Amino acid sequence: MALVNFSQKVKSELVRVKPSHKECKKAELYGLIQTAGVLNISTKGPSLEIKTENAALARKVVSLYKELSQGKTMLVVEKETKLKKRNLYRIRSEVGQIDSVFSQTVVENILDKNVPKLQEECCRRSYLRGLFLGSGSLQNPEKTYHLEIRIADKVFAERLQEYLNEIAPPLKFGLVERRNEYLLYLKDGESIAVFLTMTQAHRSLLEMENIRIIKEMKNNVNRLVNCEDANIDKTVTASLKQLRAIETLDAQGILSKMPKSFQEVAKIRKQNFDASYLKIGQLLGISKSAVSYRLKKIEKEAEKISQLSRTDKTDSE
Ligand SMILES: [Zn+2]
Repeated sequence: MALVNFSQKVKSELVRVKPSHKECKKAELYGLIQTAGVLNISTKGPSLEIKTENAALARKVVSLYKELSQGKTMLVVEKETKLKKRNLYRIRSEVGQIDSVFSQTVVENILDKNVPKLQEECCRRSYLRGLFLGSGSLQNPEKTYHLEIRIADKVFAERLQEYLNEIAPPLKFGLVERRNEYLLYLKDGESIAVFLTMTQAHRSLLEMENIRIIKEMKNNVNRLVNCEDANIDKTVTASLKQLRAIETLDAQGILSKMPKSFQEVAKIRKQNFDASYLKIGQLLGISKSAVSYRLKKIEKEAEKISQLSRTDKTDSE
């Protein structure tokens, strides 16, 4: 069996959603026509064609037409040429037939980019579903969150963006042009989850939520690990600096002239390369801040010496 991507999963679920409300059916068909419909002019007069590679979607379009109109619909199945040997389904219907379904002129009002007037929530959701079935896609949420609906016409894309953001307030569709097409897109997991809920892709939603949870957990674990690594790095870097300072002071015979408490901290540091201040403190029976103070002092002393020797060199040059 061919690899089923997430888009196909969502679509095969949405195809099976069968609204019972007549206005919902109209709204869904409207969305489908606006995203997948093409006007054909032939000697027999104008007709509207919806093309799809999805057999279930083709069946759905045919049954929507049947339920909504009296006229005849023609379903043509073609083998796609070239590399992909998939079937291409073309559902053709007379323009007059569609006009009667929507009580308006398809060419002027639907194909020429008017958004529908939908009063009820159920119909708005059905319209969204139709749009997505017609030209939508959704990337695998394991990779990234990206849902888009492709629109051919710029004016319509802008109008649709405004309309969708108005009728489906939690969604904030962005709009971008890509290769002479206009993409209405959602880019965050939250919005995509809302979209799947609204269009009734409940199984896909569950699957996406599971992926989201796992992703989030992984991110948290990574953050923790990175955080620990960063802390270890810091300790090691600080420790190296202290060891160098101790060596410098030792080599100059200065360390042995420092107070006993400093010598003790230096000794423990040398023996416990990666020990925290707290650990060193525990070994010596002193506080963390006392350890910190003494090691800082040692570093400062060592810095003085290296500055001195630098000045010496400059002088002798
Ligand atoms: Zn409805």
